[in-house]
Amino acid sequence: MVWRLVIGLGITLIALAIAGRRVAWLYKLTMSGQPAPERVAAAREHTGARVEAQAVEVLGQKKLLKWTVPGLAHLFVMWAFLILASVYLEAYGALFDHDFHIPLIGTWPVLGFIQDFIAVACVLGLITFAVIRIRNSPAKLDRRSRFKGSHLGGAWLILFMIFNVIWTMLLFRGAAINVGVFPYESGAFASEAAAAVLAPLGESANAVLESVGLLLHIGVMLVFLIIVVHSKHLHIGLAPINVFFSRRPDGLGGVPPILKDGKPLDFEEADPDEDLFGRGKIEDFTWKGFLDFNTCTECGRCQSQCPAWNTGKPLSPKMVITDLRDHAFAKAPYILAADDEARANLSDAEKAEAERPLVGDEEANGVIHPDVLWACTNCGACVEQCPVDIEHIDHILDMRRYQVMIESSFPSEAGVMLKNLENKGNPWGMSEMKRLDWVGELDFEVPVVEDKLPEDVEYLFWVGCAGALEDRAKKTTKAIAELLHIAGVKFAVLGPMEACSGDPARRLGMEFLFQMMAQQNVETLNDAGVKKIVASCPHCFNTLANEYPQLGGEYDVIHHTQLLSKLVEEGKLTPITPIEENITYHDPCFLGRHNKVYAQPRDIMAKVPGVTTQEMHRCKDRGFCCGAGGARMWMEERIGKRINTERVDEALETNPDTVSTACPFCLVMLGDAINEKKSNGAAKESLEVVDVAQLLIRSVKGEPAEPVAAD
Ligand code: SF4
Ligand code: SF4
Repeated sequence: MVWRLVIGLGITLIALAIAGRRVAWLYKLTMSGQPAPERVAAAREHTGARVEAQAVEVLGQKKLLKWTVPGLAHLFVMWAFLILASVYLEAYGALFDHDFHIPLIGTWPVLGFIQDFIAVACVLGLITFAVIRIRNSPAKLDRRSRFKGSHLGGAWLILFMIFNVIWTMLLFRGAAINVGVFPYESGAFASEAAAAVLAPLGESANAVLESVGLLLHIGVMLVFLIIVVHSKHLHIGLAPINVFFSRRPDGLGGVPPILKDGKPLDFEEADPDEDLFGRGKIEDFTWKGFLDFNTCTECGRCQSQCPAWNTGKPLSPKMVITDLRDHAFAKAPYILAADDEARANLSDAEKAEAERPLVGDEEANGVIHPDVLWACTNCGACVEQCPVDIEHIDHILDMRRYQVMIESSFPSEAGVMLKNLENKGNPWGMSEMKRLDWVGELDFEVPVVEDKLPEDVEYLFWVGCAGALEDRAKKTTKAIAELLHIAGVKFAVLGPMEACSGDPARRLGMEFLFQMMAQQNVETLNDAGVKKIVASCPHCFNTLANEYPQLGGEYDVIHHTQLLSKLVEEGKLTPITPIEENITYHDPCFLGRHNKVYAQPRDIMAKVPGVTTQEMHRCKDRGFCCGAGGARMWMEERIGKRINTERVDEALETNPDTVSTACPFCLVMLGDAINEKKSNGAAKESLEVVDVAQLLIRSVKGEPAEPVAAD
């Protein structure tokens, strides 16, 4: 059977040459990105955690299994790739030796069974995918389809190719059984069924079918390989690499600073002509950025969860990634050109692509439209869902950084906020002395740090700008202070020495201002000898806990719901007065998804007698943003439905007496939307939105709440 050996090896060499050329090109393009030594260093330092991530996310498909049906379907198909590699080993062995079997385990019936089982499971997975794709067709659902904007034809082709892998496998194995060259005497049930179908054709026909089936099986795999390296299905090979080098534990929480040689860029020494202030062109992204772009599977999970997309805005996190990828591919001839002369010889279309601005409107033919860039609330729903650990927020922020710091191009409303931060240390531009107004409304003393934190004080209470200056949020601040006082927790506040944590500046992209504000706060905190902080604002909490360490501020930071839940658990706070209300809890993104605090606010409510809780459809890790994050609080929302209105509509479906939350920004956003609903009769007049701390103080003290939405 020399002919089949020659054909088998011949087509393999041709396919490997074509695929290898493409892989080399992809590698070159990816590595043309900026260096990211911190990724390599982190991977080296935490190799164990990264290997664990491979086991959990890649082999265990943890993120995909969050969506049970498509998750299971993908699990079967992915494991089919791994297990059926042993069938390909047998197939190539059979090219050389008809009776080939894998040494040691190659005649073990269990292996034969596993191979056939996963092949059948894979077919079931393919059918499931086909049904999902038909039911979620963009033609039927338009924006509600997670596949809107994905390359649909390519996806069907891949399903077809995987199906071809399976039937050709059964063809050559069934025929092999009939001609007596099959390695397994039993176990391979599906192959045996195929053999039963083929047996009536006779031995010589089966001998031919065995060879034809074998070559078809190998040929299908080789065509599949070529298609994969030229399509979005690159993720088959790239996903494990992307997961290995991704930020751990995920791309949420704090965002990385602008890095230079793997270290935070010091703006006092930085030179905008030499140093990268964010990403202004595709070549400014690191190789990890390029890897993210190439790894996207276009599954649309991110898009389906995005609050901006779901309220009719042009931002789709999937399309941000695929647009960047498509642009990188189209600009590749320019990027990879050896020199200026080679660039001058590029086609007009290639030159035009090279000149496209990364961010720009229709007229400028930008890759990313400004309306897309500025619609992101940094809610993290996309990152949370992405099965291949793509870091959307980091890329969006990097592009914002360039727009803000180099181009001075950002929504004009946000400029007022930046000016206020710079001049007054808070986004509202209020006097720093007003930060202590709420203290005077309490009937006990709150120590204010003047120099050092008094020795008997356990926690610094980081009040935050909203908590100190915004009327509705001040009610939460007072509730927290009262609860800590009742529980006997010693705390103090910084008062006028506290400045904005810098979160709105950083999330807008004004990294320089963030660094300035954060450094000032770190200095204040370190000078005061602060070790433990309780923060009421999830944005401050996230910044202090996850971002200040980048600037030398290492503290034990806790959110007020975590501390209050602990105090209730320890019996230091006893909710006694019943609150007979139906309450739905809204997860603040920077508390929940970014920092995984889901249980404690719910634990507090569960301890309040009389309270019945009902979850909204989208909750916990799939919670829906209020629309304020990513500095969106300071920008107009001109396109589509307002995000806070969408969220309150969802809350109203639970027929609540009260909406609770744990963030001053959510409080304001939801409160505004509820007021609007009340004004048009869509919500009952008594509906209020409160922080869980306000609920708790009501029950502990037996006092009526200070309603927020009624303001
Ligand atoms: S962070 Fe939120 S708003 Fe921004 S792209 Fe992701 S899902 Fe959309
Ligand atoms: S970015 Fe991630 S979640 Fe979004 S489409 Fe791509 S692979 Fe899917």
